[in-house]
Amino acid sequence: MIIIMERDATKSNIQAVIELLNSHGFKVIAHEGDVHTVIDALGDKTTLSPARIEAMDGVKQIKFIREPFRLASRDRKSEDTVIEFSNGVKIGGANRPVSMVGPCSVEENYDGLLQVAVAAKELGCQFLRGGAFKPRTSPYDFDGLGELGLQYLRKAADETGLLVVTELMDSTDLDLVCHYADVIQIGARNMQNFKLLKSVGHCNKPVILKRGPASTIREFLLAAEHIMYNGNEQVILCERGLKSFDSAFTRNLLDISAVPVIKKYSHLPIIIDPSHGTGQRYLIEPMAKAGLVVGADGVMVEVHYNPAEALSDGKQSLSIPQFKEVFAHLNTLIDTLHLEKSSTLSDVE
Ligand code: PEP
Ligand code: MN
Repeated sequence: MIIIMERDATKSNIQAVIELLNSHGFKVIAHEGDVHTVIDALGDKTTLSPARIEAMDGVKQIKFIREPFRLASRDRKSEDTVIEFSNGVKIGGANRPVSMVGPCSVEENYDGLLQVAVAAKELGCQFLRGGAFKPRTSPYDFDGLGELGLQYLRKAADETGLLVVTELMDSTDLDLVCHYADVIQIGARNMQNFKLLKSVGHCNKPVILKRGPASTIREFLLAAEHIMYNGNEQVILCERGLKSFDSAFTRNLLDISAVPVIKKYSHLPIIIDPSHGTGQRYLIEPMAKAGLVVGADGVMVEVHYNPAEALSDGKQSLSIPQFKEVFAHLNTLIDTLHLEKSSTLSDVE
């Protein structure tokens, strides 16, 4: 439940509510707003009668959240969460949708990575992505360069003015990955690795949480809830396709409807990954467009300097010339959508 305090509630009124909640085993998160203090009380409400809280001095209203994901729910927070980076880039709300691009894996050829980063910057992308710790289906496949890959990513991003997104697979690498990355990615296979979710909950970097290939939207939002419950509210969701019965033409089934569904039930930003979502490079442009049109806050796309020789996911990676062509089109759409969004908002004002 959420307890909204009166605008003139005193510090001791607020403290009394927090103490009562704590004594009944609730986890309490208090937000001091400009007007009201709002207290999130996470726990079993059968242990404490809401009427008892309602009767306390300084309490204005109690709201109950219908969804099991409470912190991530729109009922708790009606305005969109916006995640802001030190260079001014913002994800979510009425901000321009962002682009995160780069190879599936960071490889030995640093110059190839730099070529992608240079093109990305030219095309107005904000993030360089790439895996240094790779989850691979087969133990015989390339599983990443580890710290060297992180160093390459950081260097290429710094040389070009981009932010780094990279995957964390094991909480023992958290400090290492945080040292190099601006955004920590939790991959689809780890969406329900609850220990890993807890560990990124304790860090202060934004997290991209990818939807598990066989997860419902509710499970997806509950996975985000684990990160938020542990203290990190900077979560960016990523729809990246589901396993389906038909893999003849596509690797996964990209659930475009997840974008507006999540927008309805959650305030968290959501981006779309048409590369893993389809497994086919010719589908990247149409599916990225579809995701953006239904409201995605950004796209994640795999780009490799030479996809034929990529050590992972070459088939779904764009070459640099293809990347330039696709993003020339996507950027036009992004500009139009952004213009529409900002003018609708100013109409409302
Ligand atoms: C990736 O982004 O390279 C990746 C492994 O993605 P996913 O977890 O969605 O498969
Ligand atoms: Mn990949």
